[in-house]
Amino acid sequence: MKTRAWLLLALAATTAVPAIVLTQRSEYPITVVARGKGPYTFPDGYQTPWDRIEIMVTEKLSPNLFVLHGSEGLDPAHPDGSGGRALALFGSDGVLMVDSENRQVGEKTLKAIRSFTNAPIKVLVNSHIHSDHTGANAFFAQQGAVIFSQDNLRNEMLHPPLRANGQPGPAAEMAGVPTAVYAYDPSAPGRPAVTLTMNGETVDFIPMMPSHTAGDTIVRFRTANVIYIEDFYRNFGYPFADQANGGSVSGMLDAIDLIQKIAGADTTLVPGHGTLVKKGDLAPYRAMLVDILAKVKTLRAQGKSLTEVLAANLTAPYDRTILGDTQQSKDRFITEAFDEVKDFPPVVDGKRTMPRRP
Ligand SMILES: [Zn+2]
Repeated sequence: MKTRAWLLLALAATTAVPAIVLTQRSEYPITVVARGKGPYTFPDGYQTPWDRIEIMVTEKLSPNLFVLHGSEGLDPAHPDGSGGRALALFGSDGVLMVDSENRQVGEKTLKAIRSFTNAPIKVLVNSHIHSDHTGANAFFAQQGAVIFSQDNLRNEMLHPPLRANGQPGPAAEMAGVPTAVYAYDPSAPGRPAVTLTMNGETVDFIPMMPSHTAGDTIVRFRTANVIYIEDFYRNFGYPFADQANGGSVSGMLDAIDLIQKIAGADTTLVPGHGTLVKKGDLAPYRAMLVDILAKVKTLRAQGKSLTEVLAANLTAPYDRTILGDTQQSKDRFITEAFDEVKDFPPVVDGKRTMPRRP
């Protein structure tokens, strides 16, 4: 009788939780929905129709590590796929999320997660502060998530830098502010600040040097052989270093160099936007950063103004190969380089006071 009861229990357990094979398999990553290539145009005054944006599984990185991303062609901030990529690692230990997507699509992001798991939401780690990565933080905290990030990200959230017009940024939604914080240690680049064992995975939260922002974290999944590399690399639009939040183009170069050291040749790298890459794919991007920084530095040393440097069209050689190469995207990149090569203000508490322009 006793044995029989055990057998029944074991059978029930097997039915309820399908066995997951947790070794890396060669068929991964699997693209479910390809990201858009554009070009995209939006009329003047266009507003993102959040009610039309869907959040779906766009890639599978392992049997229990899925990518969530938004619809193509609707969100001018990211027309190739609305929002930032979010990841969900799932299984009997609960759900671990990397980034929370935009606030407007919190319910839809949860619904997408519920399409493949009923496990409780337990951990959320933020790769950086931008709203397409942290917007639904408070919503997922209400689902039970403990939120992890660099302390610089928490500082950026609690004390946002002034906006370009000199006005203070919006106050933080306290429920969405990370509470489990750690710092980047310049003496040990690449060392994980947090390592979690969940759902057959070993997950490392690796704080980065100030690069895309001063609060960046990359997330490594050792079994799946995947690293979420967030936004210091992008292959849709020109590079973006958020200097007001402590980022810099030279910091993004350091971040790329660190990835070369810690990723294997076959490691799947997951940028916040664009397509999945391997570390070999980062080389042309790195070369472009070096080239543009050097050219802008030369022009600025010759006394050229920002207007003159923008007019020099330094990105022309790259426009053929860079998708999403809008004027706004290249002007932002050149302006970053211009501000960085001379009189670049220091980072204080994750923020930098950038020159204001009318
Ligand atoms: Zn992003």
